[in-house]
Amino acid sequence: VAPYQTTATFQDLERFLAESGCCICRVAAQAERRYFDGLLYEEVVTPATAEAMRASGGYCARHVGVLLGRRDPLATALLYGYVLSARRAELDRVRRGPRALWPGRAGSRPAAHRCPACRVEQEAVDRAAQVLALGLEDGSLAGPWRRSEGLCWPHFLGTRTRCRAAGREVLDAVEADRLARLAAEVEALVQSFDYRHEGERPAEVATAWRRLVATMAGRDGGGPWEPRP
Ligand SMILES: [Zn+2]
Ligand SMILES: [Zn+2]
Repeated sequence: VAPYQTTATFQDLERFLAESGCCICRVAAQAERRYFDGLLYEEVVTPATAEAMRASGGYCARHVGVLLGRRDPLATALLYGYVLSARRAELDRVRRGPRALWPGRAGSRPAAHRCPACRVEQEAVDRAAQVLALGLEDGSLAGPWRRSEGLCWPHFLGTRTRCRAAGREVLDAVEADRLARLAAEVEALVQSFDYRHEGERPAEVATAWRRLVATMAGRDGGGPWEPRP
């Protein structure tokens, strides 16, 4: 048994490969949930959290939605209070001197300026992609991968760059097969809107539009998609 096979990430992947949708989206969702659980439970008033909120200016649109969805008025007030105090200090500075405000262009930002929840998610995603690549290379995850529903496109790309030739072959073969099945289901869905169409849509056809977006856009498209009924 290779050391990486004893990690929690390996066990998560084994479990999530057996569930519907992209297994790395599930790893990311789990990391996000744990991040907000830990944060709201006891980390709101730590210096590290205050610094992360000040440096980043707060969360991306998706994670603002997650935070507001937790409906925690006190924690939210404290977290964004850090951002507010940083903004006020910034405004004070530029009013006193000739310095400009940070223009905030996403591409030029150092890591500390990125959404704190996205950073946590990305670390978990990178670990999972690395472990999946290793597991395909030595075969330990090849079986679960062949029985899985494949990866969303962003996580497929992230895993593929970490694979060597043997792993890439099985990665590509399964992904191509799953994308072909999705294309057929999407085609059937579109056909079913033809006025000559009769009868009910099978569940995998009726839900194809959701899985199409989740597969192409990954987490930004609501991945992992809903389980097949
Ligand atoms: Zn994914
Ligand atoms: Zn984010």
